[in-house]
Amino acid sequence: MKKTFIALTLSALFIFSANAQKSLQAGSEKIKQSEASGTWLDTPAKVGKKAKNVIVIIGDGMGTAQVYASVVAQKGASNFLRFPFSGFSRTYSHNKYTTDSGAGGTAIVTGCKTDNRHIGVLADNTPVQSILSKAKSWGMSAGFVVTSSVLDATPASTYAHVPDRKMYDSISLHMSQCGFDVMIGGGLSNFRLENRKDQYNPLDTLVKRGYDVTYSLEDMKRSSSNKLVTFFCENYYGPVAPGRDPVLTEGTKKALDILSKNPKGFALMIEGSQIDWACHNNDAPYMEAELADFEKMLKIVLDFAERDGNTLVVVTADHETGGLVLLNGSIEKGKNECKYTTDGHSGVMVPVFAYGPGAETFSGIQNNIDLMPKMLKAMGKQ
Ligand SMILES: [Zn+2]
Repeated sequence: MKKTFIALTLSALFIFSANAQKSLQAGSEKIKQSEASGTWLDTPAKVGKKAKNVIVIIGDGMGTAQVYASVVAQKGASNFLRFPFSGFSRTYSHNKYTTDSGAGGTAIVTGCKTDNRHIGVLADNTPVQSILSKAKSWGMSAGFVVTSSVLDATPASTYAHVPDRKMYDSISLHMSQCGFDVMIGGGLSNFRLENRKDQYNPLDTLVKRGYDVTYSLEDMKRSSSNKLVTFFCENYYGPVAPGRDPVLTEGTKKALDILSKNPKGFALMIEGSQIDWACHNNDAPYMEAELADFEKMLKIVLDFAERDGNTLVVVTADHETGGLVLLNGSIEKGKNECKYTTDGHSGVMVPVFAYGPGAETFSGIQNNIDLMPKMLKAMGKQ
């Protein structure tokens, strides 16, 4: 009786393992097919693994319509299609239905709602730490790359703590003291003494703290320092379309080179800042050029994350801008007919895309303040 039971169990196990083998083969076929078409449908190996690095990418003003405009413009070869997990984020701020980039950026990187215009502080002005600052306190590296000023609302929310986004003197002081390893963007003029109302010299502080402070794409590329600040311009870059230097892509490559040297890992924030500006202007060609630039940056980041295998990549927006509607276009020609319904921000949910260890937790409708705790959880931190 006992022997019969064992024989039956063994044969059942055999049948089960044969079936499991078949389904595994089918699974790897599926993965092969997805790789062949340039998309990652599944990342089973990543589930349950801890993320060593986190890259949070913010498309300022990039709602679902902006992402779809990019997918169409890329004629289906969009890097957005490579993310295996996606969801939505609710963007309202502590005091407004429609957020600005100060409260929006603060929510994404600190996990706290605040009033519009606030940077890195709660509505009552209590300072709150960003995931980049936390990473530094854990011995990891941290940095950011933006296509606006390094003092603009989104980058500022990673290191500054001020009640108003326009307090550039204070924000630049906070930047000079934040200790991040790489900071790349525009905004040099606010560091010049003649443009300051205070007596401080944050540029001097950066140099004294051991940063290689550079002022052009060539100098940035040439730098061999592991502490780098690059100002590409006095104030703000022009749009990418008339021939802006490839600052987003080259800045991202440089940041990845430096930050990935740390064996403890890194946190990096990258912002495609001017998708927002183009949509404020209701300027579809400007928007599409910025999105094309964003796509190139996404490719660099996703290729890095795929090679690395320990990097969580989260892409989202702080809010949608322009109330963009796409009523017609041509999939074949990669053309969109863009209609804007406002020159301001809108309150709609924005998309979230995730790849890498912990990516599966970013599915569904979440609040923008849920994103940072999910990133920490993926890293095994609190
Ligand atoms: Zn805006």
